[in-house]
Amino acid sequence: SQLAKDSHIIIIGAGTWGISTALHLARRCYTNIKVLDKYPVPSLISAGNDVNKFLELDSSPVGDYVSKAIAQATVSGWKNDPVFQPYYHDTGAIIAATSEAAREDISSGGGMTSANGWIPRSTGREFRETMPQGVLTGDFPGWKGWWKKDGAGWVAARKSMESAAREAARLGVTFLSGPAGEARELVYADGKAVRGVRTADGHVHLGAKTILCAGAAAENLLDMKDQLRPTAWTLAHIKMTPEEAKIYKDLPVLFNVERGFFMEPDEDKHELKICDEHPGYCNWVTDGGKLKSRPFARQQIPLESEQRVRQFLKETMPHLASRPLSFARICWCADTPDRKFLISTHPEHQDLVLGVGASGHGFAHITSVGSFIADAMESKLDPRLAKAFRWRPETAVGRDWGALQGRYGPKGSNRVMNFQDVSEDEWTTIGLDQVKL
Ligand code: FAD
Repeated sequence: SQLAKDSHIIIIGAGTWGISTALHLARRCYTNIKVLDKYPVPSLISAGNDVNKFLELDSSPVGDYVSKAIAQATVSGWKNDPVFQPYYHDTGAIIAATSEAAREDISSGGGMTSANGWIPRSTGREFRETMPQGVLTGDFPGWKGWWKKDGAGWVAARKSMESAAREAARLGVTFLSGPAGEARELVYADGKAVRGVRTADGHVHLGAKTILCAGAAAENLLDMKDQLRPTAWTLAHIKMTPEEAKIYKDLPVLFNVERGFFMEPDEDKHELKICDEHPGYCNWVTDGGKLKSRPFARQQIPLESEQRVRQFLKETMPHLASRPLSFARICWCADTPDRKFLISTHPEHQDLVLGVGASGHGFAHITSVGSFIADAMESKLDPRLAKAFRWRPETAVGRDWGALQGRYGPKGSNRVMNFQDVSEDEWTTIGLDQVKL
């Protein structure tokens, strides 16, 4: 039977996917939507709470149906939806690698051709030419890649999340934060059907549907049967001068899959964000005899990560390579074994809907992923998508927790690392006196 539009719907997590879900459900005229989060939007620990994210508009021409369908929905949102459209910057992008193996991998999908607008780049001079003089000053040792002048770029991440939350609130969605928003446990009717959520203030929020969008923290509320591997990446900011900010405008994204990436400095604080590239960090602990990667919040990064950021700068913009960091943090996402999303009703727990498994590429989908989650809730998800995004513990049996999952890093960091191996004095110290998460 059809769910009444005034049914209570509880969304756990006001991060990237939770906000997208709230927006799409409100647009479908549901009138009793509550979104719970420990933090107000933008949540300090959301993977989407970041100045910018990379977005490629064209999916590979040889992609499968699922990749194409979700890419199409995403792109349509960035191009046409007034909530998101102002935050996409079509600046172009340079994608490169250092090793021959990684280069072959990234071009193996057949998308990096001149017919698709990708121009080969292989010398330092060719790389430097992709941006105004004075931006790229490095030698680009061993870099080879491609430059595309449009059809790719970056999105203002935090701003687009805030925009979506504003629109959802305008359409009547309630957002709760603090102890009133921090979900402690799911509430079951008979051990099976989910009836709602108990929050840290002791309140029980009842819902006809409960939607879990807690990102890397989903495991705290539900046994995910090894389908999610919480994995963290690292980001760092450096402060630019007002003069630098002027020439560092409208730049293409520069992304070396084994070194790192940057996008232009943010317009408000003139900070340049750099992510060093690696297959990620887990935080392995034993819990009930099982190995689990347990996320934790921290606004510092390992010193080895800072070194990788500086190495990236040395190769691309050596004039900035020794500038102090102004901000850094670790940032958690969760990989499924095949890096496809997990968007499904739960096969055993009636009325529980899952919107998790963003697998490191979930931000770009903020425009549209909520509509797929809403489709799953309404039991009308396209069967091909439903099959790809299903609850699939059988794919995680005996899971190789060290799998690179299609990612790369520089020599020595080309493996999934473990925060347990990073001692307390091996972290940066910026911001230690500030926000306590
Ligand atoms: P989140 O956005 O993390 O949201 C989870 C929310 O749940 C948070 O707000 C949290 O506060 C809340 N929560 C957790 N526990 C509870 C609880 N018990 N009760 C209530 N609320 C709770 N993707 C791209 O598409 N392009 C990129 O360029 C890109 N770059 C990235 C760079 C980095 C460094 C990282 C870490 C990720 C990047 N991603 C990128 C991936 C993308 O950010 C994530 O896939 C996406 O943001 C995940 O969305 P989510 O909603 O699942 O999780």
